[in-house]
Amino acid sequence: MPAKLLEGKPQAERIREEIRKKAAGLPQRPVLASVQVGENAGAEAYAKSQKKTAEALGIEYRFHKLAPDTSEAALVEFIEKLNADKSVNGIIIQMPLPQHIDYKKISWFISPAKDAEGMHPANIGKILFGKANLLPCTAAAVMELLNLSCPDLYGKEVVVVGHSEIVGRPLALLLLERFATVTVCHIGTSKAGKLEEHVKTAEILIVAVGKAGLIKGSLIREGAIVIDVGINRVADKIVGDVEFEEASRRASWITPVPGGVGPLTVTMLMRNVVEAAALAAKG
Ligand code: NDP
Repeated sequence: MPAKLLEGKPQAERIREEIRKKAAGLPQRPVLASVQVGENAGAEAYAKSQKKTAEALGIEYRFHKLAPDTSEAALVEFIEKLNADKSVNGIIIQMPLPQHIDYKKISWFISPAKDAEGMHPANIGKILFGKANLLPCTAAAVMELLNLSCPDLYGKEVVVVGHSEIVGRPLALLLLERFATVTVCHIGTSKAGKLEEHVKTAEILIVAVGKAGLIKGSLIREGAIVIDVGINRVADKIVGDVEFEEASRRASWITPVPGGVGPLTVTMLMRNVVEAAALAAKG
């Protein structure tokens, strides 16, 4: 039987309704400050779509465009102003940044309490202790898809391919918190020729690499849940990292690309902003 489609949109709609209600119950309208440095059409389009989503949920979106030659020191100063501004609840730095700015260095200046992307070391550290309230957006989006397809992760064999700081690593921690048995594969696994043997064992396979066709459909375990985070442009089409047709003949659930994890990621960003505002309101 072909796999059921694990689509992000219906899940996103449900969670957006919860966010809308929570935002409406706050003493002040939550505010997301978005910072772009220089001109970039892609970043601007992404910011526009964030603004639309934010406003639909009752969140004010303040877009700040800084000059392309803004120095790291000036950007830090700007972030610190936003940190000190009590009306701002969340801060996001739009990517890409000009080459002279180191994103990681800069993003660590965002107050952990206003870390809309959930990527500050203080928030990542809280995941380790099961105390996170602002989660990395893509990892949180994957967890939402698992809540639908496999709510009980206890003892499940989960294989995560990709160990980036924004997806694979935080995801592994979130899965451990739910008592899944987690194997994390990366370039070292592939170079050792062991990727296939791990993928074959996965009851739940999550792939976040960014290489079209990396995972052959024939490797998917019968009945597995497949979550493909990858986004690749191949001959004017967007595809994931997993061979979709063959994989969907074997899996029980599979995310489409596009339409799987993507629609949930921006929703998770808004959830963090409203959560940050709720925490600030509690004092
Ligand atoms: P990174 O490039 O930061 O990480 C890719 C990871 O894959 C690294 O851990 C890398 O290991 C690993 N890797 C590379 N080649 C192989 C291989 N042959 N076998 C096994 N592992 C390999 O990417 P991101 O984590 O930022 O993103 C991954 C994908 O997810 C991209 O396609 C991106 O566009 C997409 N994405 C989608 C989102 C969504 O909302 N749908 C959000 C964020 C990302 P190493 O570092 O050791 O080389």
